[in-house]
Amino acid sequence: FIIPNFVSFRQRLSRIFREVEHNREGKVADYIPQLARVEPDLWGMGVCTVDGQQFSMGDNDETFCAQSCCKPISYAVALDRLGRDKVHKHVGREPSGRGFNELTLDENGLPHNPMINAGAIMTSSLIRPELPLADRFDHVMQTWRKLCGGKRAGFDNSVFLSERDNADRNFALAYMMREQGAFPKDTDLLQTLDFYFQQCSITVDVRQMAVLAATLANGGVCPVTNQRVLTSETVKDCLSLMYSCGMYDFSGEYAFTVGIPAKSGVSGALFMVVPGICGFALYSPRLDALGNSVRGVDFSKRLVDTFAFHTYAGM
Ligand code: GLN
Repeated sequence: FIIPNFVSFRQRLSRIFREVEHNREGKVADYIPQLARVEPDLWGMGVCTVDGQQFSMGDNDETFCAQSCCKPISYAVALDRLGRDKVHKHVGREPSGRGFNELTLDENGLPHNPMINAGAIMTSSLIRPELPLADRFDHVMQTWRKLCGGKRAGFDNSVFLSERDNADRNFALAYMMREQGAFPKDTDLLQTLDFYFQQCSITVDVRQMAVLAATLANGGVCPVTNQRVLTSETVKDCLSLMYSCGMYDFSGEYAFTVGIPAKSGVSGALFMVVPGICGFALYSPRLDALGNSVRGVDFSKRLVDTFAFHTYAGM
């Protein structure tokens, strides 16, 4: 086993989980009523190792929408099919240093990276544009299902409808990119936006998300089903950008202190990938000012204080 003493591993994780539970700082996202109504003190954690050992705690049955946690998956789906060069004709790979929905593009008129809104709208436009939207969405859902170990991800239609009704900023980003000629030709802008909002509305629980993170930790092979879902090249690129850009404008600080590729979403979800070892999923809806889960960040820091998971620890 990659983690030989799993019992002691579980005990130490439980201790961190309980410590972090006391943290009630931050506020739930309120830009749509569906998120504003969520119980703020939900707290769940899941872990899955690259050899398939699993453990979860707290509100591990609670499903939540992926929000920005869909971004690395959209990027990976686009990459897996088109390859790095084609994808990066339309999106950069540099941290923006700005908020996730800021009206800003890079010096080429492209979104800075796939982990912010503009970049995820762009990668969405690259996913099977020749197909009807229903089939494009099925394609993404199939990938989620395989990443999650064969268990179907859900879809929250109220979140989707609400996202679409409260999306002036995302519309503005899309029009700004179109003005710059950033999209592939023949892109249907409104359909692309719908597709992006739909992916934000995909729902999972922490157990599923931990398996998804473990699949990335395992180079694209799901540790539960042993099925290859993504190429190792795709996973390498995806983790590189999660490391530098996955935590909004806290990404540099997170890479420095925690040192693990991770992605957060405004639902309070956060997943972390410890390459070659395991994946973690955390869910706690209270967010800090930058949009990251307060407990998620707190847990991450304590985790690397306890275990040598930081990429450059113990060298
Ligand atoms: N649906 C949200 C948006 O597009 C997702 C953002 C997020 O999780 N940061 O604004």
